[in-house]
Amino acid sequence: MALIRLGFGRQHLCLLRRRSFLLSKLIAVVFAALLFCEFLIYYLVIFRCDWPEVKTPAHNSGQETLKAMFLADTHLLGEIRGHWLDKLRREWQMERAFQTALWLLQPEVVFILGDIFDEGKWSSPQAWADDVERFQKIFRHPRHVLLKVVAGNHDIGFHYQMSTYKIKRFEKVFNPERLFSWKGINFVMVNSVALEGDGCNLCSEAEAEIIDISHKLNCSREQEHHSSRCIDEQPLPASAPVLLQHFPLYRRSDANCSGDDAAPLEERDIPFKERYDALSREASQKLLWWLRPRLVLSGHTHSACEVLHGAGTMEISVPSFSWRNRNNPSFIMGMLTPTEYALAKCYLPYENTVLATYCVAIGFLVVLMLAHFKLLASPLLFGWNLLRKLKTT
Ligand SMILES: [Zn+2]
Repeated sequence: MALIRLGFGRQHLCLLRRRSFLLSKLIAVVFAALLFCEFLIYYLVIFRCDWPEVKTPAHNSGQETLKAMFLADTHLLGEIRGHWLDKLRREWQMERAFQTALWLLQPEVVFILGDIFDEGKWSSPQAWADDVERFQKIFRHPRHVLLKVVAGNHDIGFHYQMSTYKIKRFEKVFNPERLFSWKGINFVMVNSVALEGDGCNLCSEAEAEIIDISHKLNCSREQEHHSSRCIDEQPLPASAPVLLQHFPLYRRSDANCSGDDAAPLEERDIPFKERYDALSREASQKLLWWLRPRLVLSGHTHSACEVLHGAGTMEISVPSFSWRNRNNPSFIMGMLTPTEYALAKCYLPYENTVLATYCVAIGFLVVLMLAHFKLLASPLLFGWNLLRKLKTT
């Protein structure tokens, strides 16, 4: 009797050991999948991104270079339209991507080209405060890295929804400066939502600001430096500005855009609505005349595009940084000097790759469980026996 009990005890212990071994294997697979998909993949993918080389003419070889990162349309979900799981997932992805990029690439300044929030246009003060707090956590950065933001239609509303209150609360969080100069490079950050051109108060204020900046920039240009109108001006670096805004300058459609993160083929020929998909022709012309930018970067379309405007001004549409809007978000890495610039795109992990990795991990878990319960061999054995039977009959 004692022997039987001992035998039963051993069997039970052996079963327990096998089960705990299986459990540790399952935990290891889950942990490895999570570690890869939620941390390592960002390092592996962003590690391949390199700052572009800027061609500096020999006589300007003493010029400093500035490393700038440009991203757009983060669309942090609000309390009304965002499901909590979607919110959690997207914000985690953006936080990991941003923090990894900061750590690996060490930019000096980061520009976000509007639509930071999805529901800033209608959020209550409490929801706004909550959104801002999450933004500050996701896009936290060391003191020596500057973060500059322009307003988008989802932050302050389209022209008809925009109000002084919404602009002020946006500018209370994000510095309202429109002109930023560093290392001899001028950046003009425009509130493009206010460029409706209908003479509304906010639109007139926005235009007056741009005209003022235009005057300052003109004074910095060599030939006009000694003009009597420029005597009172604080001199700006003599460099054509980089224009940063949310709405793109007017273009007919995305028909001429190419690349794997351009708009989907079926959407490329849809004509752009002025003041909705892009700025009006008139506002675009004014910006180009007044500011004479050497480069324009904009957001809003969620897809990539390169457009060459009159007088050879290049505009880059920066795709959305959120996986909610794209399978393959990206950001632009810019190396700038007062006279030159070089841009490169840094792609972030494909959502499909992450999902496929999770599917493989789930498949592996299933195989482990089947093998443990000796169910894996059974279908094979059954098939083999069936074949043998068929042969003999
Ligand atoms: Zn937008």
